[in-house]
Amino acid sequence: MEQQHRAVVVGAGIGGLTAAVALHLRGWQVTLLERAADLAPVGAGIALAPNAQRALDVIGLGDRVRELSAWQGDGGMRTPDGRWLARTDAKAAAARFGGPLVLLHRATLVDILTSALPEGVVRTGVTATVTDPGDDRRPARLTVSETGTGTGTGTGTATGTAPGTDIEAELVVAADGIRSAIRGTLFPDHPGPRYSGSTSWRVVVPAPGRPFAPHETWGAGRLWGSQPLKDGRVYAYAMAVAPAGAHAPDDEKSELLRLFGDWHHPVPEILAGVDPDRILRHDVHHLPDPLPAFHRGRVALLGDSAHAMMPSLGQGGNQAVEDAVVLAHHARSAPDFTPDRALAAYTADRLPRTTAIVRRAARTGALTMLSARPAVALRSAAVSAVSRFGPGLALRGFDGICDWRPPVDPAPSAHDPSRVS
Ligand SMILES: Cc1cc2nc3c(=O)[nH]c(=O)nc-3n(C[C@H](O)[C@H](O)[C@H](O)COP(=O)(O)OP(=O)(O)OC[C@H]3O[C@@H](n4cnc5c(N)ncnc54)[C@H](O)[C@@H]3O)c2cc1C
Repeated sequence: MEQQHRAVVVGAGIGGLTAAVALHLRGWQVTLLERAADLAPVGAGIALAPNAQRALDVIGLGDRVRELSAWQGDGGMRTPDGRWLARTDAKAAAARFGGPLVLLHRATLVDILTSALPEGVVRTGVTATVTDPGDDRRPARLTVSETGTGTGTGTGTATGTAPGTDIEAELVVAADGIRSAIRGTLFPDHPGPRYSGSTSWRVVVPAPGRPFAPHETWGAGRLWGSQPLKDGRVYAYAMAVAPAGAHAPDDEKSELLRLFGDWHHPVPEILAGVDPDRILRHDVHHLPDPLPAFHRGRVALLGDSAHAMMPSLGQGGNQAVEDAVVLAHHARSAPDFTPDRALAAYTADRLPRTTAIVRRAARTGALTMLSARPAVALRSAAVSAVSRFGPGLALRGFDGICDWRPPVDPAPSAHDPSRVS
């Protein structure tokens, strides 16, 4: 029997889970190592645009996500007093990019991805450290140590990854998030993440009593969005300019009431029903300085570890999903794998695209967080004018992002020995 080559994926976020599924489907023997005790997802909602949905099509999961589309009519952008600055046309957006934006709970996405993995792939409660990135001649090496009471997430125990042991892999996928220790090992001179100047809150709540149109509302140095989920609940998110590491002196619900309590419907009603313990608050960091490459030796960086971006375009997770299927495309089926060629092709495909999106997200983020009153008034006037005289212009901001298509495998040649006739 042909020996399967081993890929070790570090980190079971959206990027790592997608990579594990994509590599498994390409014939790799995959082990996914996650330091958290279980896969209970940190986060609330996540928007997946047509680009990520098309990436998920490659691994057979695109339609499972599309089924969760909950677009309930058109929404748009508003000012805190409720004035509409711009109406979004859901049909025009879907026509332009080939499908709707789908908003789903992160837990749902994690479930969809995990269900596509065989028993024994996911191992929780273990921290992985890359000790040698390897090269074309020797495998990469990792040390795995126990960090908690991992359960195997219902998928059993990964073979050969006993805590405190060294393991070898033909391919390592570093999907270990924005604070990636593996990135620091591979690229010690890279400055790492930088604070964006703003903090974020997220929560999923029952729908308010009175109906509302989905909206994102921009104030002075503050932003609030309310978007319906398919299951009837509402994903609400907010951002505000704040010093790094700040927390509410009392609780985050009180802080949100101070910042947004007098904004238009449904914001006060949503806030009234929020359980303070369910509010997630995270400072927003990103990687404004691009890495020189997304790989070294046999290790490929993916998702936030490679290109963390501000959430202003809702593309961080989408790009992680794209990375995963592009990486698996270049890694192909394991017996053909040559790390030098495959991972250089992965970097060449992904680094320029994600660098441009990180920059675009930073520019949009800066625009949303404008604080000075004259600048805010100018921004409102400009958004309103664009919406009135060129409604398609707002959508153009997503050209080149949401219309992305995954790479297509070359047709097998007549001389390809793996071709089945
Ligand atoms: C407010 C906000 C809203 C957002 N909204 C959207 C959105 O609507 N759409 C979108 O596409 N994106 C959105 N994003 C971005 C998105 O959340 C991230 O880009 C995405 O989750 C990154 O996924 P990842 O798998 O790369 O990393 P993570 O999700 O950070 O996963 C990394 C995993 O690695 C594990 N890990 C770390 N080190 C080790 C180790 N040494 N050993 C083992 N495990 C390890 C961690 O425990 C973690 O589980 C948003 C972000 C924010 C802050």
